[in-house]
Amino acid sequence: MARYVGSVCRLCRRENLKLFLKGDRCYSDKCAFDRRGYAPGQHGQSRRRKISDYGIQLREKQKVKRMYGVLEGQFRRTFRKAEQKRGVTGANLLFLLERRLDNVIYRLGFANSRTQARQLVRHGHFTVNEKKMNIPSYIVKIGDVVDVREKSRKIAVIQDAMDTVVRRGIPGWLEMEKDSFRGRVKAHPTREELTMPIQEQLIVELYSK
Ligand code: SF4
Repeated sequence: MARYVGSVCRLCRRENLKLFLKGDRCYSDKCAFDRRGYAPGQHGQSRRRKISDYGIQLREKQKVKRMYGVLEGQFRRTFRKAEQKRGVTGANLLFLLERRLDNVIYRLGFANSRTQARQLVRHGHFTVNEKKMNIPSYIVKIGDVVDVREKSRKIAVIQDAMDTVVRRGIPGWLEMEKDSFRGRVKAHPTREELTMPIQEQLIVELYSK
């Protein structure tokens, strides 16, 4: 399966926003964005040219795609799904991304980043409703119960992530029982709970061209 293997800190610098792609490091003084908050590359520090409307829309799409660690094909498919749902397409897109199992694992604090969450899911460390689930793009539903499998509870990265999740907090639509390594989907996410600066309407405009 295709995946991005370049420097992820470069992506934050390109999008001019901390995307929190590296777990602990993002909260330390080693964060590349905090140290060099300008675009990567030879001309990163020079004055930027005026950006077109298309450029603004493209950057917004890239930002969200990179934040959730989804490649173009899957992002586009998610957008098509969002279009078919009732309601506002842009918000539907964010809700679908937010309800991906890898994101839920990250949000619940079983992983320090979405990339780590995706790898843990692929390696079969979780169950959903007591059935092994190794598909990171699985969309959770209200009432789903996500458990760390018994044999995986001693894994250092999972334990470390559970200890440090307080730093970013668990959103209100999810619930985590630390002692039983269990998470529960209480509700669907709301737009207010997605606090990263995203203008999803720009993505809708881009894909509607
Ligand atoms: Fe982005 Fe984290 Fe790298 Fe900082 S450390 S630039 S927030 S990925």
